Amino acid sequence: MLRTHTCGELNTKQIGQQVTLCGWVQRSRDLGGMTFIDLRDRYGITQLVFNMETDAILCENARQLGREYVLKITGIVTERSNKNLKMPTGEIEVTVSQIHLLNSAKNPPFTIEEHTDGGDDLRMKYRYLDLRRTSVRANMELRHKMAQETRKYLDSRMFMEVETPVLIKSTPEGARDFIVPSRMNAGEFYALPQSPQTFKQLLMVAGIDRYFQIVKCFRDEDLRADRQPEFTQIDCEMSFVEQEDILEMFEGMVRHLFQSVKQVDIPALPRMTYEDAMNQYGNDKPDIRFEMKFVYISELVKGKNFRVFDDAETVVGINVTGAASYTRKQLDELTEFVKRPQVGATGLVYARYQDDGTVKSSVDKFYDEQELKKWTIAFNSNPGDLMLILAGEKNKTRKALSELRLEMGGRMGLRNKEIFAPLWVIDFPLVEWNAESSRWFAMHHPFTAPKPDEMHLLETDPGSVHANAYDMVINGVEVGGGSIRIHDKSIQQKMFRILGFSDTEAQDQFGFLMNAFEFGAPPHGGIAFGFDRLCSLFGGAESIRDFIAFPKNNAGRDIMIDSPSAVSQQQLEELNILLKK
Ligand code: ASP
Repeated sequence: MLRTHTCGELNTKQIGQQVTLCGWVQRSRDLGGMTFIDLRDRYGITQLVFNMETDAILCENARQLGREYVLKITGIVTERSNKNLKMPTGEIEVTVSQIHLLNSAKNPPFTIEEHTDGGDDLRMKYRYLDLRRTSVRANMELRHKMAQETRKYLDSRMFMEVETPVLIKSTPEGARDFIVPSRMNAGEFYALPQSPQTFKQLLMVAGIDRYFQIVKCFRDEDLRADRQPEFTQIDCEMSFVEQEDILEMFEGMVRHLFQSVKQVDIPALPRMTYEDAMNQYGNDKPDIRFEMKFVYISELVKGKNFRVFDDAETVVGINVTGAASYTRKQLDELTEFVKRPQVGATGLVYARYQDDGTVKSSVDKFYDEQELKKWTIAFNSNPGDLMLILAGEKNKTRKALSELRLEMGGRMGLRNKEIFAPLWVIDFPLVEWNAESSRWFAMHHPFTAPKPDEMHLLETDPGSVHANAYDMVINGVEVGGGSIRIHDKSIQQKMFRILGFSDTEAQDQFGFLMNAFEFGAPPHGGIAFGFDRLCSLFGGAESIRDFIAFPKNNAGRDIMIDSPSAVSQQQLEELNILLKK
């Protein structure tokens, strides 16, 4: 090694010792008689000191060094007179006797410090510089630790890491596939896997028994801040299991991760049915760090000549503890909030349960004090609380109220990022009706098994059948999901029929799987966790991008390497591709 120590490890124990360090110039300060340089590497920052009196030439040389120059220095560890106890190396500095310039650097386009002045695009273009920043590097370290602990846990439970192919077959599974032209098979295409779903099931048929893989998946969807065209899953599958075994195994994994990475003890995960989640939170990924459950008041409020409520399929609200002091302006803001197209409500009704025990509402014209008192009972409201109510078509209204609930949770400081509230959401419907294309869609995916005791309804009333499917949700984020699978060819065929595949189409696209089921497929099930999302949640960040070394932007572009990009005519010809003019 060119160095004896890293920039993060020296302390008072090495005082008097000669050391050699390598790193980048974070910044330098020239104080006349003295020059200080902060030297940075992956492990930390060490202060270097140069003294005009003892070595004027060296000190002059040090003053010429620019930001991000790469140095190797030798010097003596000395005690600082001005200690900085916030830094691990803050009690010492290195009095330099030799500087060796390993490389110079252009002035970086943004400051490489905890807080940078660089905008998103600039930092993405120079991602290798952004990654030098301590906070971004810390995210990579967290990700590394998460991956190692995941492997440790799964290995200790007999899971075998198996790689599955990246060039596979295009199958209509949910999202749009990325496709890759084949040169050797002109006119034919591979697809990149949306997940290794069918392969991991084939591994169960192969007798692997317990499989996992930390694996890249690809979905060609429109992007949002928390989505990337390529992302990573912790993908798992087990044989000879029931739902309960999977829930226990992977609850164990997530608790292990919390314990080993964050030193947080997570109690046993509560379970909530999909139906309860939708009824109580209007959302299949409820944030249960706070209560604020839905209260349905249709019966209470109808028939009082208030058209909005009278005409509504559902009237539902939440009680916000301690928010009766909300001003007119704040309430107007909330009304604007619910009317945003993404939220979709037409208006907001409120009722303040005032400290003096009276209730003031935005619909006092229709509901007298006595009626409003009934509301407070329904909402379990106390003086000082605010009731917020939406009305309209059931699903739309619940969705809008779910958004409002999250907004209020945020405003009331109930969504602390250092508090983790995981749960299982279970008993999902097997299929859901899509009015637009007027057909059933698999709620999870087409390989999910119906609950055995509802199997008889599969053909007559598919919408009423539930699945042994489950999601793990943490703080309102779906971090993982899976199901017990179909392992019987005829049931799988039936499922494809319900989903609108003809037998030929099903055989064409999934014949390989159904054929495999004829050779002794064991009962099996599994789950996949969104690894990037899990990392960002552990790191207390909103966006998964911060936890991906080289992410793409919202347009799906890598602006550092400038991809996607055009290819040469010759490449196109080899691939037998003619581009539209
Ligand atoms: N393959 C599924 C997914 O990507 C997860 C699973 O069912 O295991 O969502």
